[in-house]
Amino acid sequence: PHAPGLEIVGAHAQVPLAGGGFVEYANLDHGASAPALRVVRDTVDALLERYASVHRGAGWHSKVCTALYEGARRPIRDFVGGRSDDAVIFTKHTTDSFNLLAHCLPARTTVVVFETEHHAALLPWEDRDGINVVRLAAPASPGEAVSAVDHALRTRPAGPALLVVTGASNVTGEIWPVTALAAVARARGARVALDAAQLAPHRPFSIRELGVDYVALSGHKLYAPYGSGALIGRADWLELAPPYLVGGGATATVTDEETTFKPVPDRHEAGSPNVPGAVALATACHALAAADREGLAASEQALTERLRDGLLDIPGVTVHSLFGDQVQTIGVVTFTVAGQNSAVVAAALSAEHGIGVRDGAFCAQPFVRRLLGAAGCDVQDGTGHAIRASVGLGSTTEHVDRLVDAVESIASRGPRRRYVVVDGRPTP
Ligand code: PMP
Repeated sequence: PHAPGLEIVGAHAQVPLAGGGFVEYANLDHGASAPALRVVRDTVDALLERYASVHRGAGWHSKVCTALYEGARRPIRDFVGGRSDDAVIFTKHTTDSFNLLAHCLPARTTVVVFETEHHAALLPWEDRDGINVVRLAAPASPGEAVSAVDHALRTRPAGPALLVVTGASNVTGEIWPVTALAAVARARGARVALDAAQLAPHRPFSIRELGVDYVALSGHKLYAPYGSGALIGRADWLELAPPYLVGGGATATVTDEETTFKPVPDRHEAGSPNVPGAVALATACHALAAADREGLAASEQALTERLRDGLLDIPGVTVHSLFGDQVQTIGVVTFTVAGQNSAVVAAALSAEHGIGVRDGAFCAQPFVRRLLGAAGCDVQDGTGHAIRASVGLGSTTEHVDRLVDAVESIASRGPRRRYVVVDGRPTP
């Protein structure tokens, strides 16, 4: 979709085809990692010309880099509609953000989480002393999700509680009823952590309006490079916990007898930080916040509907969803082709059509297994494999149409035989 101010790097890249020749790459894998914005690349390029140590350097470039690094927190907090006293901790990605939060949970916290979550949101709470995890089955409707959370929180052992929920599913693209879930959580004295890895690039939202306490996100899905993410939210639990990593930068005083640590954010950011990553993430947040996000969401929606409708018209193709048309979605469509191995279909899409999708269980094995089982699909090797196409700023109508035409031709020719497996991947 054309979005002024949000031009991406690498649009119109050419990729080789197995039969010879080149074609424009149809990147339909934005849900995994999105291309960088041009403004992000230009800002990082400029930063690298002044690259120097942060926080402890006395030189001019150190001061500039420190100001840019510290100044990167505010645009990120504003982007998610954070409260003025919310902490912004730089992390590596959403996975890191949730592991940090898990590390900071007070003793006797009950964590409530649906099995439909990405492993990054599902697993960090497990096997921690004093933390009680309640894993809820996939609900059939948003209303059922709300009552399941209410019941789990009402019947929990005494103590603090945290509901962890995704803003938008990385498997189905479905937007979860976060406001309603946060309201019941609040009424039961629980906090809410929002997995915004998928939601943040595609829909504006606000911590305050949703009524959540923490937000985790990843730069590489948000049109910035890998290696930058953030945990944004209430500082108190983070202040009371020991540092996530121990070392320079987090320490206040070190003597033979005692070590004391700084308050957040430094407390949980020991070691030399990823300054280009933080600045890149803040630049992407700033650019998105300044753009016409409603217009962008509408054009992504149109592409998604074209994609979903095109796939649904193909005999043998199943598009998977949990809530059906009860909720809206972001531009993620997961499907299977009857009788065809998803990994082979994905390999053919790449080799024969220059289309990038993802296949597998998308780091959400319990959910994908549940979806494929419910649709009566073959659950290969006990895990389940599907194909995911996801749109974003690098997507065009031509890419979507090419995918639909390619899936149609693959579906009509029956199972492929002339692929060999190299390093565990089917290859033509
Ligand atoms: N949550 C969701 C919903 C995701 O889509 C992803 C990435 N696939 C993650 C968490 C984990 O993100 P990361 O790999 O950047 O830590």
